[in-house]
Amino acid sequence: MKRRAFIVAGAAGLTATAAATVAAPAIASGKQEWRMVTSWPKGLPGVGTGAEKLARTIGELTDGRITVKVFAAGELVPALQCFDAVANGTAELGHDAAYYHLSKSEACAFFTAFPFGLTANELDAWVHHAGAQQLWDELYAGFGLKAFLAGNTGVQMFGWFRKEINSAADLKGLKFRTPGNNGRVLTKLGATVITVPGGEIFTNLQSGALDAAEWIGPLNDLALGFHQVAPFYYAPGYHEPGAGLQMMVNKAKYDALPKDLQTALRVAAQSANNDMLAEYNALNGQSLMTLVQKHGVQLRRLSPELLTALGTAANEVLNEVYEKGDPMTRKVIDSYLKFRGEVIPWTRVSEQTYAEARGLNIPHAIKGR
Ligand code: CA
Repeated sequence: MKRRAFIVAGAAGLTATAAATVAAPAIASGKQEWRMVTSWPKGLPGVGTGAEKLARTIGELTDGRITVKVFAAGELVPALQCFDAVANGTAELGHDAAYYHLSKSEACAFFTAFPFGLTANELDAWVHHAGAQQLWDELYAGFGLKAFLAGNTGVQMFGWFRKEINSAADLKGLKFRTPGNNGRVLTKLGATVITVPGGEIFTNLQSGALDAAEWIGPLNDLALGFHQVAPFYYAPGYHEPGAGLQMMVNKAKYDALPKDLQTALRVAAQSANNDMLAEYNALNGQSLMTLVQKHGVQLRRLSPELLTALGTAANEVLNEVYEKGDPMTRKVIDSYLKFRGEVIPWTRVSEQTYAEARGLNIPHAIKGR
């Protein structure tokens, strides 16, 4: 009853002082026990273990003043309902991907990934140093949420295919599992897009209900065994070039915290953001080698013609989202496109030029070993 009274009062627009008074008993005891709902199966490497580590970091950084219990998908709420659960106070924290919530706002996509959008480094730069955090705060305040970047998968893979795809014609009629805006892109090229949760991809590929599927990258894909039923593995995951994960905080709870605890949450999220990407970068290489050398996976690269067709379709989707978008969505897209235009010339000169240099395969090893 008390919780309900607090939520109703919060919705009516209580001042921060009044909200703090309501929450006072928990703060006075010096310790708060928070719940974190997530979209991840228990123990899923990368995104799942990253969320668990984030929860532990919050406990350590706050010296136990906030301890966080993590709930895997379905334990407290279903995988895709974290947004609502944190907004309505069922949980204080949530960890998932913003682009699961396009039904709340199409702008959410840009804080995770958009096809042919930003890499992990570029997303961090846009959010932390080019005004996107402020836009994100403005967008989420309308839902009673505050969010931080709290993880990244790095560049994903385009996915697993039972047959080779050499041209756009090969995508026609293909039953492909891929979510969100990439589903719209593939639909434009004639694919039949089917949405199934990660845990159900394998059986659907095996039965032929799916011809192809994308999930994340070598580390997670190897664990789910897709190579056993779809031998062709395509790069690059242009649709998720650096998928950012988010930590959502119930805004009334966040606003009621003293400054040092707010800082602890922000710093814990930033630490999780760096750490998860490092974990993916450390383990994807080993997993890819296992897939190719041990399991005989056929690694393929999307042709420039196919990438151009996919990129052209992605641009149509971008324009449709913009045209139908509310003012907030347009503001986010304007900022995203301005930043993308500024950062790409530098990425091209720095990371891309260096990657090309290293691609010359000049020996780099101790002689005789
Ligand atoms: Ca994916």
